[in-house]
Amino acid sequence: MDRRHFLQTGLAAMALSQLGGTEALAAGKNKKEQAQAFGPVTCENVAAGPQDLLVRFLGSGAAGWKPGSTIDRRNSSVLLDGKVLIDFTLSVTDMLPEGCRPEHIFYTHSHPDHYQPLQALKLGVKHVYISETWVDMAKYEFMRIAAEQKLPMPKMHPLMIGVPLTVEDLTFTPLPANHTTNFYQEQAQIYLVEKGTTEQHLGVRLLYATDTGSIMGKASRLAGIDTHKSDIPPRPITGFIMEGTLGKADYRMFNHSTPELVALIAEVLAHGKRYTPPAGQPVYITHMGHSVYDREYGHKWSQEELNARLPNPVRAAYDGLEVVFRAVD
Ligand SMILES: [Zn+2]
Repeated sequence: MDRRHFLQTGLAAMALSQLGGTEALAAGKNKKEQAQAFGPVTCENVAAGPQDLLVRFLGSGAAGWKPGSTIDRRNSSVLLDGKVLIDFTLSVTDMLPEGCRPEHIFYTHSHPDHYQPLQALKLGVKHVYISETWVDMAKYEFMRIAAEQKLPMPKMHPLMIGVPLTVEDLTFTPLPANHTTNFYQEQAQIYLVEKGTTEQHLGVRLLYATDTGSIMGKASRLAGIDTHKSDIPPRPITGFIMEGTLGKADYRMFNHSTPELVALIAEVLAHGKRYTPPAGQPVYITHMGHSVYDREYGHKWSQEELNARLPNPVRAAYDGLEVVFRAVD
């Protein structure tokens, strides 16, 4: 099966809102294993139209999944249209399609399961986008490692909450996340990613929300999805990826979310016409911890079992999954 066929069957499976065997087959495979199973994985945007956004999940696990162990899920990051990364983990280089060298990285926060400067420098990344609240700290670290390793230093770009920044045809608006690090000045971020959005057309408006405990009110207002006394004009999102770190709520709920909470948020947004996806498009959870997998009697669920137990329309992403988020009028 070639990759185009793989993508098409994956899309057909998604249109039916259920997972086919193709998706399950690819779960947990790196690019070499995928190439053996499906033919060469390339960087091109094969199945997406020029208005659509191709998202490749390079990892879908929380920090607990360690590279080198029996890997089911790598740390979470995504590749957008083959050219922009959100976060750069230890396993990104291994999971990138063949010949694909994205030059732009947007970071969510400084936790090591999201931020690995040495690996990014080795790949030769040229532009790094980080919250103004910790960009100086990151710049110092990048410069030190670049000097030690004799690698070229990328340009560092500070990001401000709510201020959009465009890279080619993708626009990123940083939004505040409910997530803390040990550097208390740092504001962790989630992103609204827009493609082809104009005053007349929604295009693709994808909310990528990890790591965060729920969605902060300010983030929802800036994204245009708050229906509660907002002075910012409403604008629905058309795609939704959110973290589902916790199998059930525990002491980490001030920093992370459960799949059920993601489903509830999607339901509320859809009810208020603030989430208008193409028909049949799932909400994807990523950044899953072990407890999402292993909620009953130590039984480790397969991808199919996990999806069967997740509330509609939530589906579990997996490492190497590619999803085409279609533009909406
Ligand atoms: Zn984190």
